[in-house]
Amino acid sequence: MAAKKIVDGVYVIPLGGVNAFLLEAQDGLVLIDTGSPGNADEILLAVNELGKQPGDIHHILLTHWHPDHMGGMAALKRATGAQTYAHPIDAPIIREGGVFDPVSGVPRPFLPAPGMEFPFRQFITGVVNVEGGEIDHEINEGDILTFLPDLKVIFAPGHSDGQVVFLWEVHGGVLFAADTCANIPMLNWSLGYENFNEGKRTLKKLAGYDFQIATFGHGDAILKDAAIEWRRKWHDKQV
Ligand SMILES: [Zn+2]
Ligand SMILES: [Zn+2]
Repeated sequence: MAAKKIVDGVYVIPLGGVNAFLLEAQDGLVLIDTGSPGNADEILLAVNELGKQPGDIHHILLTHWHPDHMGGMAALKRATGAQTYAHPIDAPIIREGGVFDPVSGVPRPFLPAPGMEFPFRQFITGVVNVEGGEIDHEINEGDILTFLPDLKVIFAPGHSDGQVVFLWEVHGGVLFAADTCANIPMLNWSLGYENFNEGKRTLKKLAGYDFQIATFGHGDAILKDAAIEWRRKWHDKQV
């Protein structure tokens, strides 16, 4: 599907249930996440429709190792020559690729969030085979990305042990919240977590940041007063 503009310099590429994001940096495009296996061509098509070339993607940031986020990475790295980035806890799984079977807890246990048992069983099914690919740079909270210095790297474990999210300090703050929670049709838990308590702590931690806009791995972006909505949901009430 074609890329949709969220705000100047930020596009979402919807990939049938999961989102990838394109950011316009000064020296080229930055891609956040790569969809599921087989999504690379769709992402390149969306880039093409924006009048850009595959080689314009210079950096690929992965929020976490799950197949619906790293699935297109190896193919996109080949097509673009981009540098790749992930947190050191998830990077080894991404490099290796292979068979992922979340129902059996391979490579890590993954359990439904409270109240999510039914959709979890419905959507988290089967074994996925993912091609691994090199992660050129392991990134940690507080690292400065020289190609996008106002993009904060924030450690956000729970849904995945090595998840990172990104806060771009433009337009009043754009949070790329990955799968810390989902927004279908409103803010709610993600379907599953590798460590639910850690995931709750992460949601509360992110309530301490300011951002106007929030985007999600699953669901629509919140385009205004996103931090206020976030705090109402994750800080003041449930967590
Ligand atoms: Zn995930
Ligand atoms: Zn996901």
